[in-house]
Amino acid sequence: MSTGAGTTPSRFSASALKGRLGDAWVQSWSKTRAVWTATARATLDIALPTLCVSCREPVTGDGLCAACWSQLSFIAPPYCARLGIPFVYDPGPGLLSMEAIASPPAYQRARAAVRYDDVARTLVHALKYQDRTDLAPTMGRWMARAGNELLKEADALIPVPLHWQRGWSRRYNQSGALARVIAAQADIPVWGDVLQRTRQTRQQVGLSRAERSRNVQGAFSVAAEKKSAIQGRRIILIDDVLTSGATVDTCARALLRARAASVDVLVFARVVEPFKPPI
Ligand SMILES: [Zn+2]
Repeated sequence: MSTGAGTTPSRFSASALKGRLGDAWVQSWSKTRAVWTATARATLDIALPTLCVSCREPVTGDGLCAACWSQLSFIAPPYCARLGIPFVYDPGPGLLSMEAIASPPAYQRARAAVRYDDVARTLVHALKYQDRTDLAPTMGRWMARAGNELLKEADALIPVPLHWQRGWSRRYNQSGALARVIAAQADIPVWGDVLQRTRQTRQQVGLSRAERSRNVQGAFSVAAEKKSAIQGRRIILIDDVLTSGATVDTCARALLRARAASVDVLVFARVVEPFKPPI
């Protein structure tokens, strides 16, 4: 069997290659490619100043310049005890948002480091699609701070998994990278192989709330041999962005079916709808 010199595996041939060559080969190729990219970037860094991920101005240090950093909206109390949605005024401890009362999620609590706005979106996209793994430590540290209260009670972190075909085209799971940073900060293990994506789903971008929910329904399951490990455990799901919450809700249902004691959610950024005053 020959793969042919110069053949570049693509997402289209990935399925066939995985079958023929096995997981080990696929992982080894992904690693090789990551090393090439890192080397190319290191070489470029000598010649070029680092640019702000958001506005492309030269920066020293982390990915954002001071001006863009100051535009990030960090989420701090007061917020809904359940969903972590910020309140414009402080209604007192333990109060829930209208959303949490109207349609309570399967997960217990959600927390996010920042609001999902233009600068947050740039950071998420750079990490996800542009190989900016150097952003993960900073983003993960902010998440660890936002989720401090949840992390104190948790047994393990579980990143929302990608379908392996998508992991291939994107090289690695950004939620896994964030989970590893938080795990090191909070001294909690990451269980990366517990939750499986059992079918490919459409990208959630552009779908309505109801469509998002249908799109991911039943798309995740707990690996049969991991069910006993989950039983009675307090889990935190890690993801980069929370939009409608449909994905983490489906993941939480799968974990609760496997008898997890509780499931919380910690994301980098969450969409916050404009404040609607009560009628
Ligand atoms: Zn900037």
